[in-house]
Amino acid sequence: MEKSDISSVLEVLNGKSANEIIKWIFDTIGVENVALASSLGIEDQVLTDLVLKQNDKARIFTLDTGRLPQETYSAMDKTMMHYNFKYEVLFPDRDKVEKMVSEYGANLFYESIEKRKLCCDVRKVDILKKKLSTLKAWICGLRKEQSVTRTNINVVEWDEANNLLKFNPLIDWNEADVWNYLKKENVPYNKLFDKGYTSIGCAPCTRAIEKGEDLRAGRWWWEDPMHKECGLHVKK
Ligand code: SF4
Repeated sequence: MEKSDISSVLEVLNGKSANEIIKWIFDTIGVENVALASSLGIEDQVLTDLVLKQNDKARIFTLDTGRLPQETYSAMDKTMMHYNFKYEVLFPDRDKVEKMVSEYGANLFYESIEKRKLCCDVRKVDILKKKLSTLKAWICGLRKEQSVTRTNINVVEWDEANNLLKFNPLIDWNEADVWNYLKKENVPYNKLFDKGYTSIGCAPCTRAIEKGEDLRAGRWWWEDPMHKECGLHVKK
């Protein structure tokens, strides 16, 4: 499937349920050619449940940046036990991490946006790109409601930076939809969500949010909201 097919795929998938979208993806592209990218967020947990209930061979990968909160590792273990499957766990390139930390220190991300982006590139984006180069499509848990940087996404997009299809089956879900699904289906989730966290990434770059704050306000909270993407979902 090519970039030129996007508008016809959009026509087919617009208005379909997340379950129908996932079924279409597996039937059309093949379960072996697609993977769900999970950071163990609540949306990723909904999608984990949906994809594994549709096909126990569904592929799910996760990026272990080396700086994740302990609660995320616990959620990983719990999820694997619950569904009896294994994540494809990706680690950053050791030489690049060593060079970056030796040169700028372990907490470089607090010093400037450039250094924060360098860290995200080394610990996340590089390994994601490598993984995506082996796939025909990836599935993500992006929702329009999440932040100002995510209002213009579609259920299917051409990932220009990585040259493959990207599906966002939960695009129109709101936060209540996500929680209702998790509770109804008894899906395991990261316990930091019970402590005021609404979007969870690496431990030093994530905090709980205050009432009334944007859902992604706890990510890189020291930066302007317009810069708050790590490069995993940037449109080129
Ligand atoms: S979220 Fe923070 S620690 Fe994690 S890769 Fe990005 S800058 Fe580095």
